[in-house]
Amino acid sequence: MELPFAESWKIKMVEPIRKSTRQEREQWLKEAHYNVFQLRAEQVYIDLITDSGTGAMSDRQWAGLMMGDESYAGARSFFRLKDTIRRLTGFEYVIPTHQGRAAENVLFSYLVHEGDVVPGNSHFDTTKGHIEGRKAKALDCTIDEARQTQLEIPFKGNVDPAKLERALQEQGEHIPFILVTITNNTAGGQPVSMQNLREVRALADKYGKPVLFDSARFAENAYFIKTREEGYAGKSIKEIAREMFGLADGMTMSAKKDGIVNMGGFIATRREDWYEGAKGYCVQYEGYLTYGGMNGRDMEALAIGLDENTEFDNLETRIRQVAYLAQKLDEYGIPYQRPAGGHAIFVDATRVLTHVPREEFPAQTLTIELYLEAGIRGCEIGYLLADRDPMTRQNRFDGLDLLRLAIPRRVYTDNHMNVIAAALKNVYDRRESITRGVRIAWEAPLMRHFTVQLERLS
Ligand SMILES: *Cc1c(COP(=O)(O)O)cnc(C)c1O
Repeated sequence: MELPFAESWKIKMVEPIRKSTRQEREQWLKEAHYNVFQLRAEQVYIDLITDSGTGAMSDRQWAGLMMGDESYAGARSFFRLKDTIRRLTGFEYVIPTHQGRAAENVLFSYLVHEGDVVPGNSHFDTTKGHIEGRKAKALDCTIDEARQTQLEIPFKGNVDPAKLERALQEQGEHIPFILVTITNNTAGGQPVSMQNLREVRALADKYGKPVLFDSARFAENAYFIKTREEGYAGKSIKEIAREMFGLADGMTMSAKKDGIVNMGGFIATRREDWYEGAKGYCVQYEGYLTYGGMNGRDMEALAIGLDENTEFDNLETRIRQVAYLAQKLDEYGIPYQRPAGGHAIFVDATRVLTHVPREEFPAQTLTIELYLEAGIRGCEIGYLLADRDPMTRQNRFDGLDLLRLAIPRRVYTDNHMNVIAAALKNVYDRRESITRGVRIAWEAPLMRHFTVQLERLS
């Protein structure tokens, strides 16, 4: 008999979690204005709001915390982190920041100016925020196939080279760099192929533009290249990562994802001019250059996390758990962005709640229903997150409307996956009876989904 697959780690410490009653959840969610970001974590049974900063550190990482050097300048932990990043990416210059958006803020303060256009595959919301906040434009050049949630192709996060070239031809003078997000979070945690990264590089060279990788999940992207792209099966994750970054000028990184730390981020680049231009903003916004918003101990834990999470076994355990949840949803016929992504399942809310009009936010409505059903907290990645068009102030209904179930790294077991799938099935089975959604009572002008207040329609 073939042995079944199991995790590449065992559990050394546990944290109790608590169930609640539907009546309690009705009350709590009402008090939270039907925005799950406003719930207390104790009011949640299984928390899938994000995979960011929610992973479980290893024993080696916890041990690393004790070895942190908290010197203000020139800390040993900074050089350990810098050496690890250089070894994994080939990038010479490293600026630590307190998280990914801070890396964006520091680097974009130098690179992005009013009237600029930054083309790429679906920009992440904070990335778009940092571009639009500077009165520049984030131009989405993702392949059209990414929008067909039921289409099964291996690299659905790719940049469309034709769209990118058109942008370079028509708006070239306004383009400071090309941005590739690996994996493509907004399109469903979908990977970008090495072939596509090479095509982007070739276009960048043709038009004399640099390339920046938004690298939060670069290790998961490397796993997909290894398992799906021809010619990479025999290469290690570290070799693939090195090859990917060889095609970029620099990276921003939210270390809270594939670094498996609770807080942290960095900029890394081979360009001295980027480093020189950005470093003053690091001192201004984050901190001195050898800590940039991180503790010494956190830099130590991050160096270890980056090393561990660029090993195949760790990534295989992670990605196969996401695939396991997807397989359960397949059994129940629940539509999600196919194939399953690296860090999350994105349920296609408009195909589940077919009776809720888009003006009433189907994915947010599904998020609410799942929480009420079983205390499971997902996150809307849809019309609310898309914010309003900065020029017309109209809601943007042209993208996907998804419920994201982000799976924290090394935190939940497959039994939790079974509960999640069953709860979704219960909502799915009564989908015909859900005909009304929510309306916005109050919203912030930018990045509204964190603080929006909603009313439930009936
Ligand atoms: C999370 C994330 C960011 C922002 O990082 P934070 O650490 O949350 O500030 C940027 N880009 C992508 C693709 C992300 O997933």
